[in-house]
Amino acid sequence: MNFLRNRLVVLGLVLLATLLLYLLLPSIRQGSMEPSLEMAMVIITGLVCVCSKIPVNTVMCLCRLQIVLLHGQAFTSKTWEELGTMALLATNGYQALAMDLPDAALRFLDRIAEELELPLKKIEVFPGRVISIMTWEGTNPTLKSILLNSHTDVVPVYQEHWKYDAFSAFKDAEGNIYARGSQDMKCVTIQYIQAVRRLKARGWKPTRTLHLMFVPDEEVGGYKGMETFVKQPEFHKLNIGFALDEGLANPTDAFTVFYGERNPWWITVHCPGSPGHGSRFVENTAAEKLLHFGLFFIITFSLLRLNTSECFTLGDVTTVNMTMVKGGVAYNVIPAEMDVSFDLRIPPTVNLQEFERQIKQWCKEAGEDVTYDFAQKHMNQNITSTDESDPWWNAFSASCKEMNMTLKKEIFPAATDSRFIRAVGIPAIGFSPMNRTPILLHDHNEYLNEQVFLKGISVYERIIPALASVAALPDEA
Ligand SMILES: [Zn+2]
Repeated sequence: MNFLRNRLVVLGLVLLATLLLYLLLPSIRQGSMEPSLEMAMVIITGLVCVCSKIPVNTVMCLCRLQIVLLHGQAFTSKTWEELGTMALLATNGYQALAMDLPDAALRFLDRIAEELELPLKKIEVFPGRVISIMTWEGTNPTLKSILLNSHTDVVPVYQEHWKYDAFSAFKDAEGNIYARGSQDMKCVTIQYIQAVRRLKARGWKPTRTLHLMFVPDEEVGGYKGMETFVKQPEFHKLNIGFALDEGLANPTDAFTVFYGERNPWWITVHCPGSPGHGSRFVENTAAEKLLHFGLFFIITFSLLRLNTSECFTLGDVTTVNMTMVKGGVAYNVIPAEMDVSFDLRIPPTVNLQEFERQIKQWCKEAGEDVTYDFAQKHMNQNITSTDESDPWWNAFSASCKEMNMTLKKEIFPAATDSRFIRAVGIPAIGFSPMNRTPILLHDHNEYLNEQVFLKGISVYERIIPALASVAALPDEA
């Protein structure tokens, strides 16, 4: 107990020291401000002394160090290196060590796996980017498994626009729980866990193996998470037959399910032109071409928007937004080049080759030497079957029907990790059981009502057994 308390004190001091270092370092970086560095030193030296109760080998190592850097959520040891802090300390004659504390989400998952008595595997896809997988082995582990996927990261908040602390999970009188991630998608993570907990408690056993997977980096594109992991042998070893991943809230009584996603294309169009003095009539300018191209794009898709009737959802149509314009140095100088960038989201129903041909044509018509390149170009048009004859969909939808849930099938308007799962040929449904809830993902004051949240646990308690009991498919016989 005493040891535990000591460790807590040490941890407290470490965090305090980190915060102070964080506050002090900018001034260190800007020059040789020795007083600040000395102050940081005093604190850290103190810390090393306090740490003297840790194993002998480590102590010996630490005692020779003069500075230990630890990180919070935004910093890793790499950050210290990139900022030049390590080099700066070294040139000033200090021995420094930067350490990465294990992520809070990973520590939480460790605890849950222990409680659920499920083995937990951790795979570091990139340095500091860990995918955790809890596995509940089925009674017939040769059959394909079921993946219950969720991501552990969230998007940042603008606290000044929130009614309550965005990370306090404040529950108001109506039972609305305000928290970043309450909809996207901590709710689903916990619902999976609680449903499994209840199923275990009542002695149920899955036929097919269940994997609960927790991935990082979904919110920043998934490259250091799911996108890379699906290509690794460890992923293939999971032998996944069907996956559940995140969806969106639905303000009505219905629940939205997503069976496909639009493809994001991020494109920059380069418009070179004749430079010159801003006082003259100059032909063939970069700006002229930029406007020409922009008009083709924007007008085409604005007209499409006007024609969008109520039977379409955002996922069914292509959207185009001009998001960046670069070029020019002065009011009186006509620039030699201007760039314009667009964010396009294209539904799986569009012929992508045909679409790119159209872009090429517009470049040609915009003027001489107009070219384009992609910052992001997804070509995956896989959609998951929602035909009643499909065994996975049938198991999913039939159990929803038994609970009198109305399902609304849609194409996801943005992008989730499901696109990577579908791209390797695994059917995936995006589903977050949140009806009668405004869509507030990434928004200020994101919340979920506790009743909706609790109902969601019961929903998974029915869906998970239905999916885990899908009879052997022809290719599994
Ligand atoms: Zn999400």
